[in-house]
Amino acid sequence: MAGIFQNKTILEIIQRYRVVWAVGHASSVLNWDFETYMPSEGTLARAIADSELSLLQQRFTLSLKGLVDQAEKENQSLNDEEKGIVRVLRRHLDYYEKVPPELIHELSKSRTEANQVWRVARKKDDYESFRPHLEKLVELKRKEAEKIGYERHPYNALLDRNEEGLRTDDMDSIFGKLIPNLKQILLKVRRAGIYPKHHDLESVKYDQTQMESVNKEILKFFGMPEGTRFRMDVSTHPFTTDFAINDVRITTRYEGRDFRASMYSTMHESGHAIYALQVLRDLEYTPIAGGASGGIHESQSRFIENVVGRSREFCKVATPMLKSKLKFLKRYDSEDLYHYFNLVRPSLIRVDADELTYNFHIAVRYQIEKQLMGGEASVKELPSIWSEKFKDNLGVVPRTDSQGVLQDIHWSWGNFGGFPSYTIGNVVDGMIWNSIRKEMDLSRTIRNKDTGKIKEYLGRKIHKWGQTYSPKELLRREFGESYNPDYLVRYLEQKYLGSSSQD
Ligand code: MG
Repeated sequence: MAGIFQNKTILEIIQRYRVVWAVGHASSVLNWDFETYMPSEGTLARAIADSELSLLQQRFTLSLKGLVDQAEKENQSLNDEEKGIVRVLRRHLDYYEKVPPELIHELSKSRTEANQVWRVARKKDDYESFRPHLEKLVELKRKEAEKIGYERHPYNALLDRNEEGLRTDDMDSIFGKLIPNLKQILLKVRRAGIYPKHHDLESVKYDQTQMESVNKEILKFFGMPEGTRFRMDVSTHPFTTDFAINDVRITTRYEGRDFRASMYSTMHESGHAIYALQVLRDLEYTPIAGGASGGIHESQSRFIENVVGRSREFCKVATPMLKSKLKFLKRYDSEDLYHYFNLVRPSLIRVDADELTYNFHIAVRYQIEKQLMGGEASVKELPSIWSEKFKDNLGVVPRTDSQGVLQDIHWSWGNFGGFPSYTIGNVVDGMIWNSIRKEMDLSRTIRNKDTGKIKEYLGRKIHKWGQTYSPKELLRREFGESYNPDYLVRYLEQKYLGSSSQD
């Protein structure tokens, strides 16, 4: 432990924090097992174990309060990493101190019930059965916001919980810039008629064993340390979990058709995993060993998935491998695959959205959440508000609530304030795209399969810091400014309208 951490109070915090870390470690393993291998009827026991473990974590964290108070007094003499530890623990303590345990308990109970009802409601397209549960969750989240405290808008309390320092002002200004610009680009792309309404490959079935070997090649391409520090399994909804810096897991999915879904899930999760694998070793077992925030994490997964993985150069490099593994690609060349991987199509379902239309989906959810938390919209009106906003942003309207307001799991978990992180991730990718090209020819680096160079860059600018800095601080420090959506607009313009097609 010699090295980064010197302050005596901080060293004591780290030592006592180890049990919080260990409980978190155990509960990550349980969650990973739940998503991958656990038989379905184990759900209830797992939920009980999980909630007991979070109570334990809460109790141990609260026991650090005296030390954190002490460290705050010594703040002047702390280095950045030490300050990071104090900042992160203070956030946890604040939450536990402000939000009464009864409310936390009620939220957790209501969300388990709501989630069960939502699963059936979505299948049956029955919004009315879910509505009272959603009403309850909205009410509880508004209570929670009141307890946490906020400036100007109650939604700010929830945004900050999900993405440290994020405010409605940030999101309003990001979307204020993004939406009109993206509408323009989308209009031009659709007029150009480059992208077909249907693509043959979308319905082509693949053999899972062959697809597994494609995904293995993808892991190799990104230099994932499989078997030593990393492994990949299968789950319905792909995710990444980091038990430790030397034990990072991802999952991918095999739906049996439309092979790009599986391949890009693998790439997306690999991006998250690379982040977790490249956090500075000295931060292990401390409160700042994780990623800076959901949004910054998402920027890393999307950079690998979109900026690298959906580039023309990647398609060129990957096409021979893909054709050798997937025989149905015989008559396609790399340019065909590039188009297939980048099909632009205003659609109803967020998780299937392309790079260009994705942020509209988030804008709709952001506006709705803000209205719900501000008491300006009711849960009853949601389906009609949803339709109106989709029509306005994407020109499409869902025929069923399953394709509309019931599609995401987030609200059934009482997760309000989480969606904006996805757009933050894209905005940050624009900033990274702008900045990385000052250091390297990105196209050539991908063409040369030199992903180590890209990983080194991301590691140096973002990964190694863990949670040392808040997201905005990190961006200002590394890129000279916080969320600036201009670069994302420029990236998308170049990609869909222009200059990138010249090389
Ligand atoms: Mg992700």
